Amino acid sequence: MSYELKDKETLNSELRTPNSLLKLSNLRRFVMFSVLIFFLLQFFRVKALVGGLSGSLARWFVKLIDVFAYFESLAASKDFTTTTLIAVVPIIGIYLIFGRAFCGWVCPMDFLFEIVDGFKNWSKVKVKASPKIGYGIAAGLLVVSGLLGIPFFTNYISHLTNFFRFITGGVFLALNLPFEPSVLVYSGGVIVFLLVFEYIFPRTWCRVLCPVGKTYGLFNKVSLLKLKYYPGECGECNLCDRLCYMNVKIARHIDQPGLRDINCIYCGRCAEGCETKGKLVKLSLK
Ligand code: SF4
Ligand code: SF4
Repeated sequence: MSYELKDKETLNSELRTPNSLLKLSNLRRFVMFSVLIFFLLQFFRVKALVGGLSGSLARWFVKLIDVFAYFESLAASKDFTTTTLIAVVPIIGIYLIFGRAFCGWVCPMDFLFEIVDGFKNWSKVKVKASPKIGYGIAAGLLVVSGLLGIPFFTNYISHLTNFFRFITGGVFLALNLPFEPSVLVYSGGVIVFLLVFEYIFPRTWCRVLCPVGKTYGLFNKVSLLKLKYYPGECGECNLCDRLCYMNVKIARHIDQPGLRDINCIYCGRCAEGCETKGKLVKLSLK
């Protein structure tokens, strides 16, 4: 069986057309904006989620903390009896089910990066750095946090923290509430830096550097959610590989029952783009 070979730009534009109605893509953007709106409601006295994407308090008074932020706070405080352990358990539970889906479904940077990626043929720029470098960086950040006694990445560098500070600053400004302008400038600067970095080195932040994504990537090895192949229909067009922002070599695993790549963010672009319309490649919880 063979399928017409389309270039990546054509594929990307097809994925944006209303025709293809990309249920999965629409759904994951809906999830991302819903989470964001739930957080923003706190400024209008609806306390569904209080805090930010790195750590929060849920409406039912459950504390939640991102897994890497948890390890950083542990390294910084050296308090192994800390109540943050309770806060990280529900998050670990969620990602034991959904693996690195946080990146494709919740992280606002994936959405912003996808917009930046749309401005160029990013596939022409390939940074060869091994994704494993990120684990060395994550370990280094834990050491720095331990030495300084503060969660260094989470407090100063994190895209999640800075994105949320920036949005918060905007809301405070709009509501005419007091807000430290330097925080707005700094957090905005970090986000702009990451967007420019994305433009020059597409998906290098997500694939190689981001300690949050790298940590969630480890869950892919055991999570219920996985990318599955149903053999027999592959036309070897490589659409799946060419659509993947995370450079996962999907077609190489064609003879295997499930793909458990630490870089897969379960965005479903490969499944949506596959000409077999889901007969071959699917996201599966089974
Ligand atoms: S790797 Fe980091 S920046 Fe990229 S989507 Fe995941 S959490 Fe967000
Ligand atoms: S392998 Fe598929 S689901 Fe995973 S990141 Fe790539 S395109 Fe998205």
